[in-house]
Parts: sequence; C-alpha cells; structure tokens
Amino acid sequence: MHKIYLDYAATTPVDQRVLDVMLPFFKQAFGNPSSIHHYGQQAEAAVENARETVAGVLGCGADEIIFTSCGSESDNLALRGAALAMRQKKGATWILTSHGEHHAVSKTAEQLEKFHGFQVEWLAMDEHGMVTPDVVEQALCDDSALVSVMYANNEIGTINPIREIAAICRRKGVLLHTDAVQAAAYLPVNVNELGVDLLSLGGHKFYGPKGVGALYVRKGTPLIPSQTGGGQEFGLRAGTQNVPYIVGFAEALHLAYIEREARAAALRPLRDHLIGAVLENIPAARLTGHPSMRLPQHASFVFQGVDGNLLLALLDAAGFACSSGSACKTGSPEPSEVMTALGLEREWGLGSLRITLGSGSTPAHIDDFLHTLPNLVTQARSLHA
Ligand SMILES: *Cc1c(COP(=O)(O)O)cnc(C)c1O
Repeated sequence: MHKIYLDYAATTPVDQRVLDVMLPFFKQAFGNPSSIHHYGQQAEAAVENARETVAGVLGCGADEIIFTSCGSESDNLALRGAALAMRQKKGATWILTSHGEHHAVSKTAEQLEKFHGFQVEWLAMDEHGMVTPDVVEQALCDDSALVSVMYANNEIGTINPIREIAAICRRKGVLLHTDAVQAAAYLPVNVNELGVDLLSLGGHKFYGPKGVGALYVRKGTPLIPSQTGGGQEFGLRAGTQNVPYIVGFAEALHLAYIEREARAAALRPLRDHLIGAVLENIPAARLTGHPSMRLPQHASFVFQGVDGNLLLALLDAAGFACSSGSACKTGSPEPSEVMTALGLEREWGLGSLRITLGSGSTPAHIDDFLHTLPNLVTQARSLHA
C-alpha cells in the first residue's frame, strides 16, 4: 500500500543538496574546530563559513549566531540564559509567555518558576491562537525579565505579529525571544526587521538534519550559558561543534531562504484546497488557528466527537501520516494545552488533526486524502464513547 507523508511540521527529510555538503565532514575533514593544526583549521573554517551563511539569512553579525544541538536547546538557552541574566542585572523575575508555545519554551518557563524563583505570566491568546501586541503591552512591568512569543505555531499554524510585539518590548526595555523553528521554513527571519533580541532555529524543520539548531543573540544581550565547559560558541555553549550538522544546517537554511517564495507558492493552493474541501465535506469540523495569518503549508482542524489519536491510527492504517498537533503529544488522552487555550470544549479539542505539506506533496496526495478522510471521521465518531 502507498504511504503518504503529510506531517512536515513534525520533521522533514534531508534535502539531497544538504546531505551532499555534509558528507565530507564525517571522514575527510573530521577535525576538531578547536584544534590548532590543519585538520582543526579546516573544521573551524567550515563552522565559521556556516555561521556567516546563517548570519546572512538573519541579517546579523556572525558573532551573534550560537550553534546548538536542536531547536529545543536554543529555546532553553534563550529562556534560562536571559532570565538568569536579567535577574542578576536588574532583579527582574517575570517571564511572559503563552500556553501556545512549544513545550521547549513552556516547560522551561514552568521549571524556572518551580525551581528557580521566577514567576510566569501566561499571556492570553485570541480565538485564533494569536498573541496580540495589546496583551503583551498590558502585561509588561518593571520586573519583566523577558517575553517569549513564538513566530509561527507548530500545532495550529498561526503567525504572531512579532514585529509589533518587538516594538512594544523595545519601548519598555524588555528582551524578546521568538521561537522561529517552524517559521524559518516559510517566513522572513531578518532579525532587525523583526526587532527581536533572541531567535531560535532548528535544522530538521526546513530539510536540514535533526540534532542541530541555532540561537540568534543580539549583540549586548546578557545571557548566562546553560551548558558550561569549553569556550566554544563565544562561551555561550560548551561542547565540540557538530561540524557536518552545522554545515548542513546552514545549507538548508540558505536553500529555504532563496526558495522560500517558490516553496510557499507551490504549497499554498494545495493547502487552501484541502482546507476548503474538509470544511465543506465533513460535518461538525472547524479550522483551528488563524484563517489567513498562517503558515502556507499548514492545515489544522478539530472534529466534534472524535478521538484524535484514534483518527490518526485509522489514517495511518490507510497510508496517511498526519499528526494531532505536536509530535511530542501522541498518546495523551487529553486535548493539548493549545486546544484548551483556544477555548475549545473537550468534545471538540480531543478531535484535533494537523496536516502539513512539503516537498513531496502532490495534488494527487491531497485528492487521495480528501477521498479517504470523511469515511474515517465517520468511523472514528461511531467508535467514540
Ligand atoms: C520542532 C519545534 C521545536 C523543537 O525543535 P527540535 O529541533 O525538535 O528540538 C521547538 N519549537 C517549535 C515551534 C517546533 O516546531
């Protein structure tokens, strides 16, 4: 039976062009970038080249890019590092974020509250899962250490007004972190146009390898490292750099940057057709997230009276790989925090489905999917207690 992958927000395959530039750094050019000799210099040059490439896409200095092991680590470093530094600097103890964030942000904020004496202000989202500038403005106070609002939501695709939020944070002198792990594949990530102080990226969401990420740290932003040891990454992230993955990360980000519009233009009509057909053909179905301010490859729904995990299993058996939201949440019997934060009753929030398109998606895939889904929703409903 054919298998159709519709879960590109969970991860993407590595682009062949990315793999090609990575391979020499496993065996031939295998040196440690911190070594003095030729092998070390070769590896260091590759890492610094990659750093220049990433800085070029973000419109910042190469010395503002910290390579990490993944998007989650970038989020952790941003939140922990900035919270600790801002408390030391000005006694600030409040972290402002929302329940729409990826767990890499929200669980980190919770831990800072539980074990490290910080307080979290959970910013309200509107019915589309958006954090509006007004909400941020009203929540900011003299004791705010940092604000963390994601650029685009992984579960519901909503794009937040980061530029406007950044302008408010800047006016009040409070740091702004944004998790751009989903956004970087399809949206501009120029940090000066956005106005953010910290921005997280992860390689495997834009056809790069898993296990590598980056954090942009605006010059002058105080940050306490969470991983201590050697002086790599400007003293902000100890550990020998993962040279092949860093090289692959930079290539993948560069390709996403130059092909961004073409990729979005190819997927948006497929996605719009999918959303229209699902809402038209399936009763008691709603789109989650923003109808227009959303990632171009992203569709997400809730179906009343459906167990989302059961629907995923039925879809999988029929050859379709989808998600109920975040890949990290499968198996949970409760609606995700995002569904609850949207104000959806349990009866709706349990029945979430996310379909995200990418490089391998074709019109025939969407037609197949649309042909199959209505029956599976009916089946899931009949099995729902
Ligand atoms: C995938 C994802 C992360 C985590 O990135 P990893 O590289 O998988 O650790 C963080 N934030 C968002 C929005 C994501 O989609």
